[in-house]
Amino acid sequence: MGSKVRLRNYFLSNIGRVMTSDELREVSGNQSEWARRIRELRTEEGFQILTHNDRSDLKPGQYLLENPKPEPVFARTISKETRAFVLDRNGFTCQMCGAVAGESHPYDLSRKTRLHIGHIIDKTQGGDDLPSNLRALCSVCNEGASNLTLDRPSSQKLLIQVRRAKGKDQLELLKWLVEKFPRQTKEFID
Ligand SMILES: [Zn+2]
Repeated sequence: MGSKVRLRNYFLSNIGRVMTSDELREVSGNQSEWARRIRELRTEEGFQILTHNDRSDLKPGQYLLENPKPEPVFARTISKETRAFVLDRNGFTCQMCGAVAGESHPYDLSRKTRLHIGHIIDKTQGGDDLPSNLRALCSVCNEGASNLTLDRPSSQKLLIQVRRAKGKDQLELLKWLVEKFPRQTKEFID
């Protein structure tokens, strides 16, 4: 039996229990490629194996599978090229909350932002897999948790925050806005 099969079986018989890298390496038969096999279970088979990058209560080297059901196949039929195109077009930024890939998530600073490709119109509502119907979403927004926590702030609330910020941070914001709205920026200056 291959190490990936052993790891898959082990995850599936330990749903909801936090496992350590030592334990999983042993299950794999001390294969040097054990971590890569776990990545394949995530990316190729769609198992939602969680690490400290997904959940702040997990420590580095801990793994957890809570849901035995892999992500539906259609979520993984989007080609690597399309994924790369959409991520690049969206500036590697979650289109709901603005979290940036690889940076700390704004709503849980201990969690690194991991981006997924989400459908704008859901597949169940007839949406397709074309880039025009796809967008980058962080794991928080992808899970729908953001609907509860992320009310979009009004411009009035934003201005109150921005006025209180340090000049350095205001300039940082200006830089971001100029990059986001190049055409409008030009119009303001002219
Ligand atoms: Zn998000």
